[in-house]
Amino acid sequence: DSKHRRRDGFQAFSPQLAQRQHQRLQIETQLRRALDNGEFHLVYQPQVDLRSGRILSAEALLRWNSPTLGALPPDRFIALAESTGEIARIDHWVLREATAQLRRWQDAGLAIGRIAVNVSYHQFIGEDLARGVEQALQANGLPGHALELELTERVLVEDSHDALRILEGLRALGVLLSIDDFGEGYSALNYLRRLPIHALKLSHGFLKGVPRNASDVAICQTVLGIARSLGLGTVAEGVESEAQRDFLLRQGVTLGQGFLFAPGLPPGEFARRLATQST
Ligand code: C2E
Ligand code: MG
Ligand code: MG
Ligand code: MG
Repeated sequence: DSKHRRRDGFQAFSPQLAQRQHQRLQIETQLRRALDNGEFHLVYQPQVDLRSGRILSAEALLRWNSPTLGALPPDRFIALAESTGEIARIDHWVLREATAQLRRWQDAGLAIGRIAVNVSYHQFIGEDLARGVEQALQANGLPGHALELELTERVLVEDSHDALRILEGLRALGVLLSIDDFGEGYSALNYLRRLPIHALKLSHGFLKGVPRNASDVAICQTVLGIARSLGLGTVAEGVESEAQRDFLLRQGVTLGQGFLFAPGLPPGEFARRLATQST
C-alpha cells in the first residue's frame, strides 16, 4: 500500500498491517504449544494408479486444530514454523506418526507398502535427518522403501549445505526421494541430474489449466519430458477431473493423487477404502 510507504522504505503505521502482525504473533504463540498440547493430526491422501484408481500409497498431510484459532491449513503456519525453527520438532513428529500409522495399517492386514512425508527445507539442512528417518523406520520395523520423502525444490537450488551428502545418506537407507511441486521454483537442471532422486511431483499449479490452456499443457509436457529424459518417475498432484487424468495417461503418467480420487482422509476412512478395494 503505497500510501503508507515512506521515502526511507519503512512502512508507516497502517491498521491492516498492524492487524496482520497481530495475527502472525498470535499464530506464533499458539504454535509453540501446539505440539505438546496434541493439537496436530495427520490426514492421508491416497496416491492411486491412474488407470484403475487403486490405492498404492499415501501422502501424510499435517492438520492443526487450534482451540483458540480454529482449524488452520498448512499454508497458514508452515512458513511461520520454519521461521521460528519450530518446524524441526513438528516434522519430526510427522515422520514418527506417519510411519507408526503405516505399521498399524499393515498390522491390520491392509495392502499398503509405503507412506510419503513432506520434508521442509529447514528439516533437511537442520539436525541429522537420516538419523531421525532411521529411528522412525526401526521403531516401526519398516524397510527403507516403505518411506518416501517429498523434498522441496530448494534443495536443488541451494547447494551450499552439501545437499548431495545428505541425500546420499538418505538413499543409503533405501528411502525414496522425490521433488515436490516440481517446476514452481528454479531448479538447476544440471544439478538435478546429479542427485539420487527417484521421482518428480508435477506441481498442481500446472495441471490446473489442462487440457484447455495450451501453455499449461506445454509446461506439463516439458516437465514430464525432463523427468523422462533423466530417467525419473513422475507423480501428478491435484488431479481434479477425468480430462486431466486422461491427459496424464496419454503422457505416460500412471501415478497420481487429487480430489478426483480423494482428499486427505482420516486414518480410519483411509483404512476402510483400502479394505474394500478388490485385490
Ligand atoms: P503439497 O505437499 O504439495 O501437498 C498437496 C496439497 O494439495 C495439499 O494441501 C492437498 O490437500 C492439496 N490437494 C490435494 N489434492 C488436490 C486437488 O485435487 N486440487 C487441489 N487444488 N489441491 C489438492 P495441504 O494439505 O493444504 O498442504 C499444503 C502444503 O503444506 C503441502 O503441499 C506441503 O508443502 C505443506 N505440508 C503439508 N503437510 C506438511 C508436513 O507435515 N510437513 C511439512 N514440512 N509441510 C507440510
Ligand atoms: Mg507433498
Ligand atoms: Mg506438492
Ligand atoms: Mg505444495
